[in-house]
Amino acid sequence: MKTIGHWINGEHVTAPGASTSPVFNPATGAEQAQLQLATVEQVNDVVAAAKAAWATWVESSLSQRSKILFAFREIMNRRINDVALAITDEHGKVVSDAVGEVQRGLEVVEYACGLPTLLKGEYSDQVSGGVDLFSYRQPLGVVVGITPFNFPAMVPMWMFPVAIATGNTFILKPSERDPSASLLMAEMWKEAGLPDGVFNVIQGDASVVNALLDHPDVKAISFVGSTPIARSIHRRATANGKRVQALGGAKNHSIILPDADIDFAAKHLVAAAFGSAGERCMAISAAITVGAVADPLMARVAELAREVKVGSGRDTSSEMGPVITAASKARIESLIDSGERQGATIRVDGRGLSVAGHEEGFFVGPTLIDNVTTEMDVYTEEIFGPVLSTVRTASVDEAIALINANPFGNGTAIFTSSGEAARRFHREVQVGMIGINVPIPVPMAYYSFGGWKDSLFGDHHMHGPEGVRFYTRGKVVTTRWPETTEATGASFSFPTSK
Ligand code: NAD
Repeated sequence: MKTIGHWINGEHVTAPGASTSPVFNPATGAEQAQLQLATVEQVNDVVAAAKAAWATWVESSLSQRSKILFAFREIMNRRINDVALAITDEHGKVVSDAVGEVQRGLEVVEYACGLPTLLKGEYSDQVSGGVDLFSYRQPLGVVVGITPFNFPAMVPMWMFPVAIATGNTFILKPSERDPSASLLMAEMWKEAGLPDGVFNVIQGDASVVNALLDHPDVKAISFVGSTPIARSIHRRATANGKRVQALGGAKNHSIILPDADIDFAAKHLVAAAFGSAGERCMAISAAITVGAVADPLMARVAELAREVKVGSGRDTSSEMGPVITAASKARIESLIDSGERQGATIRVDGRGLSVAGHEEGFFVGPTLIDNVTTEMDVYTEEIFGPVLSTVRTASVDEAIALINANPFGNGTAIFTSSGEAARRFHREVQVGMIGINVPIPVPMAYYSFGGWKDSLFGDHHMHGPEGVRFYTRGKVVTTRWPETTEATGASFSFPTSK
């Protein structure tokens, strides 16, 4: 059985007798590796390594950092299939989807390659007689990223390229479910010439996370995961005086208006609901139909949902792989049961799916639930599986009110041919990322990613300009270089411009 350990100070680290957590292949259901969980001493070791590395990394020149980031990008491009296959084997998503997530992560690396521009300060000449003023930003020190299972490469890459480019050292605590991509990325950093200790990986569960949140030498926490954990991480780390961005769960609604192109909307809904088995924080999980669009739309979505090819992520003909664990499969199926019990119509039923040759895999088929009401568990819970719930409404106002009443505010989309309706929608919905005829509106790397309400705790979204601000602190310097040593302008009253 393979053992997976940590990456501390530029080296793989394993410890005999460490406590472990199983890593499964979701397509076969087989345990394929043992993940070592760090002790508090190892957490102290990794923070000490990152702190020691910071002393020199903070002094590295912008061109030196830029060269290393460019090199990392080239190596990642060359080895993209190795990373994608590692993701598929531990997460289950199809290989093309895994390649896609690495590519979206690489866009953040490319953004961070422009760090000399991102870190430019401001300068004001002659703010007062002989006085100039300038501002610039400095890194924080040791920063930590705690990431979820559903994007083992992309979500860490929302964080570390910007953190490292801006002069911090980084500790990644990946999900226990699919830890291997993080170690491949660590090896690539080393090959790219990043000094040891600047990028580290520590594996573990809640006790490792808590040790990081409480460590006095950790200056900032970036978290992505479920809402209850995001909320508690935000509380604990801010109480410890740290800067925190904690992204939580989602329940993304998509409104379909009667003037939408039904075939276009149906195809996009099916891809956005069932791609990656619905395990995307930006997956569409609630379709909100307005008026007469419901019947023809549901008929077409049902037809397309039945055609989705479900199988092993390694099989190139598969469009959708398994879900992450046996427990997740059981939870998703019991939520579908609850929808049925509570009076919804199960139009396409993915329960009990068996994939030939992979009978022990954690598969749930695409599921379409119609006539859902807002009290039902399938509506109130984040299912995080291939389940699309449909709520029928009578007007755009009713549909927008539903979105705004929901505790989550990550992503949302509208399908319409009306510019007026689209404009009203994007101005009125209380959601961070909005698509107009775009079902999964994940912003490009040079914008920032983040939701509202229970989908994000903290002030900063990830990557883009907000990422640069999150990983740096501002300084403003007021200078005077007097021509004489005479103390002109010295006064006991508060200084004002002359
Ligand atoms: P999770 O919250 O279970 O785990 C996330 C991370 O927190 C993991 O590294 C895990 O080890 C750690 N963790 C788990 N329990 C903890 C505890 N009690 N104390 C401290 N740390 C703990 O999330 P998951 O199941 O891995 O990922 C799925 C969730 O992530 C979904 O809710 C999804 O919506 C969300 N997500 C959100 C975004 C976003 O951008 N908002 C992106 C991706 C995923």
